[in-house]
Amino acid sequence: MKNWDAIIIGAGIIGLSLAIELRRTGMSVLVVEKGEPGREASWAAGGMLADFGREIPSPLQALATASARMYPEFVYGLEDESGLKIDLRAEGTLLFLDSSEDRALQESHPLPASLEKIEPALQTSAHSLLFLKERSVDPRHLTSAAIAAARHRGIDFSSGDQVLAIEVSNGKTAGVRTHKTQFAAAIVVNCAGAWAGQIGPHAFPTRPVKGQMLCVLMPEKNLVSHVVRTPDVYLIPRSDGRLVIGATLEEAGFDKRTVPETILKLRNAAINLVPRLAEARILEDWAGLRPGTPDKLPILGETSIPGYFVATGHFRDGILLAPITARVMAQVITGQRPKFDLRTFWADRFRR
Ligand SMILES: Cc1cc2nc3c(=O)[nH]c(=O)nc-3n(C[C@H](O)[C@H](O)[C@H](O)COP(=O)(O)OP(=O)(O)OC[C@H]3O[C@@H](n4cnc5c(N)ncnc54)[C@H](O)[C@@H]3O)c2cc1C
Repeated sequence: MKNWDAIIIGAGIIGLSLAIELRRTGMSVLVVEKGEPGREASWAAGGMLADFGREIPSPLQALATASARMYPEFVYGLEDESGLKIDLRAEGTLLFLDSSEDRALQESHPLPASLEKIEPALQTSAHSLLFLKERSVDPRHLTSAAIAAARHRGIDFSSGDQVLAIEVSNGKTAGVRTHKTQFAAAIVVNCAGAWAGQIGPHAFPTRPVKGQMLCVLMPEKNLVSHVVRTPDVYLIPRSDGRLVIGATLEEAGFDKRTVPETILKLRNAAINLVPRLAEARILEDWAGLRPGTPDKLPILGETSIPGYFVATGHFRDGILLAPITARVMAQVITGQRPKFDLRTFWADRFRR
């Protein structure tokens, strides 16, 4: 049986980024993917790099801020190694707040100019509005580049190969058993997203949280240029004139079907914000499964089986958190001490 230094389960953005980071340290790495690499949550995401606001739980704030800072370099590295272009935008975000108590915040994040000037197509309303210097990225560009960069660096892939269980020998990790074969490695990392809890012998409490979205072609390329986040809907423009409109948060098991009425509702919410989007042609709709956990925090670190690690549960922020997750997990795996205290994210918190 061929042997690797490390096996990564799952070729989403978390598994791919970590595989690349481990390969950089000189390790041989195999990524085992049950389907096609990069086609699950990381393909379905909007790509907001939103490190501000109530959506980020406070224990995650330091990692989120660090990861947002790492993004330009992360993207540049992937572009360089893959030869592919990644749409990373830095126009910023307009964040609509839903309560007057948040108005104090507005003063600390003022608009750079009048709304009519910076986003003329946006319908103004009574909401208070913040300007955030957040970036956004096209997650499909990102995952494609990460796959190409991984291959370029000599990372091996076994696709269409579902991992059934971790192999343990003498109390230590020995590899993985898949539905086709077995692969040997003393280090295995579970990056299986919403499915992470299905791989024995550990039962991580991950669950899928469905998100439906659609993508339209704007009638003018820059009709919307900022990310717009409201309590009901968000808009994420791409540089080629597409606009992604999202997203629902649903407990629907592993069902990835879209519902026409739900897609229509999202579209109408977008038209309420930007009336000219009524002219926009719908290109596509889809649904993806966010990896959720009971406390909305990721699961990061070593498990009780030496050599078996986990990096999953990134819920709504896995695109944002990919660079820092890869960095800190590679540090933990290679026996270095990350500068972040990861105890809050350890897997054993659910057993305490
Ligand atoms: C609609 C929607 C919008 C989102 N918007 C944003 C956003 O704007 N910003 C942001 O930061 N995040 C966003 N997210 C969240 C983000 O997509 C996820 O947190 C992130 O993609 C998780 O990455 P992952 O690699 O853990 O999971 P995934 O991309 O799901 O990858 C897991 C991989 O593991 C594989 N796998 C599973 N089980 C096995 C097995 N037994 N054997 C082998 N392989 C297996 C799967 O096939 C899959 O390819 C959004 C998510 C959705 C659904």
